[in-house]
Amino acid sequence: MKFKIRLETEFGWGEKRSHEICTLERRSVDASEEDLGLCLAEAKSVLNEIQRALLQDQVEEIGEIARVCRFCGTYLPVHDRRRRRIDTLFGRVIVEAPRVRICMCGLPGIPTLKVAHSPLTRLLPDNATPELRRLQAELGARHSFREAARLLNELTPCAKQNHVTI
Ligand SMILES: [Zn+2]
Repeated sequence: MKFKIRLETEFGWGEKRSHEICTLERRSVDASEEDLGLCLAEAKSVLNEIQRALLQDQVEEIGEIARVCRFCGTYLPVHDRRRRRIDTLFGRVIVEAPRVRICMCGLPGIPTLKVAHSPLTRLLPDNATPELRRLQAELGARHSFREAARLLNELTPCAKQNHVTI
């Protein structure tokens, strides 16, 4: 039999998007114990794919919201898009993060400057989620740094850890 895992995104403005995460196949005839349920390697891969789809859509929505000036309501242009690396417990994800022009409405009399900011940098200045950093610290406090890295690599789909990253 086959299983399809699909993620459905619904943006705040009503748009819907579908992400095909993966297809799994299992034997029912001559099934063995290994055919039952998810194995760790599959679970890590599924989590990594879900994280990738979820983060890209989240960055897109957060970027769109940042384009509306909260003071005057002007819809601001995107200055450019930059590839940003986000390290999470469920994998390293590269997203296309917009940099949005700063509205000059609060600075009357000053000529328009083409200054931009990244809403993602404000939200996540360290390129790593707090959950990953907390787990690195917790495991690093209880085990040797090498053992902490081995545990994270064994059990999660996070980017390859070693004693230095811990
Ligand atoms: Zn404004």
